[in-house]
Amino acid sequence: MLQTLPPVAGSMPLAPLQAFADFPIHALMPFTQRPQLVFTEGRGSWLQDSQGRRYLDLVQGWAVNTLGHAPPEIAAALADQAGRLLHVGPGLHNAPAIALAERLTALSGLGRCFLAGSGAEANEGAIKLARKFGRKKRGGAHEIITFRNAFHGRTLATMSASGKPGFDTMFAPQVPGFPKATLNDIGSVTALIGPGTVAVMLEPIQGEAGVVEATPDFLRALRRLCNELGLLLIVDEVQTGIGRTGTLFAHQRAGITPDVMTLGKGLGGGVPIAALLAKDEVCCFEPGDQGGTYTGNPLVCAAALAVLQVVTATGFIDAMNERATQFRDGLDALALREGGPPCSGQGLLLALELPQPGRAQRLADALRERPGQGLLLNAVRPERLRLMPALNATTAELALALAWLDEALHATA
Ligand code: PMP
Repeated sequence: MLQTLPPVAGSMPLAPLQAFADFPIHALMPFTQRPQLVFTEGRGSWLQDSQGRRYLDLVQGWAVNTLGHAPPEIAAALADQAGRLLHVGPGLHNAPAIALAERLTALSGLGRCFLAGSGAEANEGAIKLARKFGRKKRGGAHEIITFRNAFHGRTLATMSASGKPGFDTMFAPQVPGFPKATLNDIGSVTALIGPGTVAVMLEPIQGEAGVVEATPDFLRALRRLCNELGLLLIVDEVQTGIGRTGTLFAHQRAGITPDVMTLGKGLGGGVPIAALLAKDEVCCFEPGDQGGTYTGNPLVCAAALAVLQVVTATGFIDAMNERATQFRDGLDALALREGGPPCSGQGLLLALELPQPGRAQRLADALRERPGQGLLLNAVRPERLRLMPALNATTAELALALAWLDEALHATA
């Protein structure tokens, strides 16, 4: 019996069921391995494929869908904005972009905002800003110390800033100027500092590396070091920002303020928008330095404003943290039973380590294909499952995910 998701008011009727083989997927450039499924509908924590099968989704578009699939708040904001003004281009002001910049600067304490379309683009902007700052204020210094296993995006400069194994040779030569330190090892950072250094850039939690946390002590030590030497501290919160880790921004756990921060993913809740924020005194861009056709596009800004309204409402993050703690306790119990360490991560960006190589991928595949309804998880490493549910996933949905994971762990022991 086909179970369909509840309809959204005013939405199109459900598309007819269609088998994977009927989709002309050969037209897409192949760039990653994907299961032979096509998703056609989503609501909250649930996804539905073209054959009517339902999945509980704990990937949520790669930690993007802050409020789950097709949240009514974003749908309404998009419909309203689409009926008013879609795009005016970077040469003219528009009201949603001004409102969003104002909101983000107020929330972050960083006085200036540039709006971009992807995390990589925001990080490119941060790199350009640091280089410009180095030229104007630091005698031409341009090196940005980044970290092994970091992930900052897939443009050439952000791949060079990343420390993902293989990125150094994939499209060689790399953009120069990104010496690599080791996370949580302050000595490895000081050892790289020289007259050419202008900034240190890191993720508060390395998501793509498998949910590896920078400790609050390490973040504070970096802040002190940057203060002493006049270096910029750039925090990439593309994956960790907008409540995902239990505070609006992950660096707040360490009680520090960066000089520059980037946001993406969860900011748009499924709509492609990103932001670069900088302290006033650091923001040295002049007209002509930075831009982009879609910067501050009113449609995507309206979506981000809707996301922020929900996430910053009184009690939203507190309630999420309560559910996240319960979920984490459940995951830790499973980890203990399996002989692995407790979860890594914070809030609803968590990873479970399973000591047996390849088991994470086998589990993710088995859970996706489980009889009845599927469960979507991400095997971020061969031995690590990453869990990134919607921030509004219910207690019942998280308990169901735990029960199904428990069942699959037994079956694949
Ligand atoms: N920075 C971090 C920390 C990320 O996790 C990602 C994406 N996984 C990016 C940057 C790149 O963002 P985008 O894919 O939107 O370019």
